[in-house]
Amino acid sequence: MQPFAIGVDLGGTNLRVAAIEATGNKLQIIDKRTEGSREAVIEEMSSAILSLMKRHGPTSKFLGVGVGIPGVVDLAGGILRSAANLPGWDDYPVVRNLEARLGVPVVLENDANCAALGEQWLGAGQGLDDLFMLTLGTGVGGGLLVHGRPWHGVAGMAGEVGHMTVIPDGRACGCGNHGCLEQYASATAVRRLAAEAIGRGESTALNQLAGLGPELTAEAVFQTALQGDRVARQIFETVGSALGIALANLINLLSLPLYVLGGGLSQAWDIFAPPLFRELKKRSIVFRTRAQIGRRQETPIIARTRLGGDAGLMGAARLPMVGALRGDCCRAAV
Ligand SMILES: [Zn+2]
Repeated sequence: MQPFAIGVDLGGTNLRVAAIEATGNKLQIIDKRTEGSREAVIEEMSSAILSLMKRHGPTSKFLGVGVGIPGVVDLAGGILRSAANLPGWDDYPVVRNLEARLGVPVVLENDANCAALGEQWLGAGQGLDDLFMLTLGTGVGGGLLVHGRPWHGVAGMAGEVGHMTVIPDGRACGCGNHGCLEQYASATAVRRLAAEAIGRGESTALNQLAGLGPELTAEAVFQTALQGDRVARQIFETVGSALGIALANLINLLSLPLYVLGGGLSQAWDIFAPPLFRELKKRSIVFRTRAQIGRRQETPIIARTRLGGDAGLMGAARLPMVGALRGDCCRAAV
């Protein structure tokens, strides 16, 4: 039997816990909802981890637990400093509380960095040491790998690409800035743009979604766009254009070999990719020059996720497996 680790992907809505072998084989995945108080969620998480350890531990070597959380993570202290989609979790000592319950080492990491590690391990970034991952979900997350490791910056706050300005003095963002990427290229932004178009009565097809209330999802807007609705398509033009501006800045700065787009909204790739590349060519000299060099064997510089919704979960399980990461994270596992 192969050694295995347990990965945890904690989101604002879903809690996923998986036992993953060092080969990448998924032994078992437990899906839960992120419901109730912070303590209730930690209890749910702990019992899922313990049941996986009990089930698979006797026959395989156990390597440890990795946890991916959306928010600003204090890696040295193992503390979640702030998380917009997890109310009441600010300054919560995740590692200390989990280790007390589990009796095994726990590695904590930002969820976008986990997704980047997952794609590097088994997805679009295999064979590459350096890449940038953008997760287009409720918000927009960013994970940067340099020499195979997450680049944390000061206080673990590197990669916050969701709050890069793409429209100067644009829409107000919860972070205090105006015109942030996630105000135009997240699932939340797509829903808001659709609700605004419905309010203006611009589209019969979109108006049919008006009665959905909370069920007015980015997916529903995407389907409306696929059916050819002009206003819905315009919303994804906005998404692609904002991503193109952000990527032009990232590419000009970093010139990495690969930028992976993941998260639920990346399923709309076919419809937002043309405006994305249009904007990118217009704004990035580095991208244009690479395109002119045009070596066919070079990795495409922008790619879709290959692990889909599992990228963060796989990357979280990878954390305790990678000896090279020891010392980078709050506690060295294994
Ligand atoms: Zn912002």
